[in-house]
Amino acid sequence: MEAGLAVSCERTRAWVSAEVDGVLSDFESALLRAHVRGCEACRIFREDVQVFTDTLRMAPLEKHDLHVVIPPRRRRLVQPVRVAAAALAVAAVGLGSTFATLDARGVFSATSSRSSSALDTGLFRELQVQKRQLWAKELHRRATMRRHPGPQPM
Ligand SMILES: [Zn+2]
Repeated sequence: MEAGLAVSCERTRAWVSAEVDGVLSDFESALLRAHVRGCEACRIFREDVQVFTDTLRMAPLEKHDLHVVIPPRRRRLVQPVRVAAAALAVAAVGLGSTFATLDARGVFSATSSRSSSALDTGLFRELQVQKRQLWAKELHRRATMRRHPGPQPM
């Protein structure tokens, strides 16, 4: 935009841009036509934009001789780690509630409570180990993640 341009002229020139893109409403189109009837600068601007746009759109496509190579995308471990963490969380909650339910119903008798608690402890330890491994992977990913300048999301 030109410095010192009236607000109505700035708005009209934005409508000129919308007009060549075919996204101007009937109401805005009527306001645009009314403005350019009384403003020579905007009328010239509108004609210039229309000629420039038509010239550009009618021009044949340029062929280039450059060979463009797009490097393959780097695979990220974020998604599998998150999915695995979510699955482990669901499994942990499910196992916890299953054992709580069975325990409340007295399914584990005095003789079997030792083995069930051993099983429970074993599963719990295994889940803890897997959780720690996932967390270590996530920390490694965060530490090696490419940073951009400026404030970092946490
Ligand atoms: Zn104007």
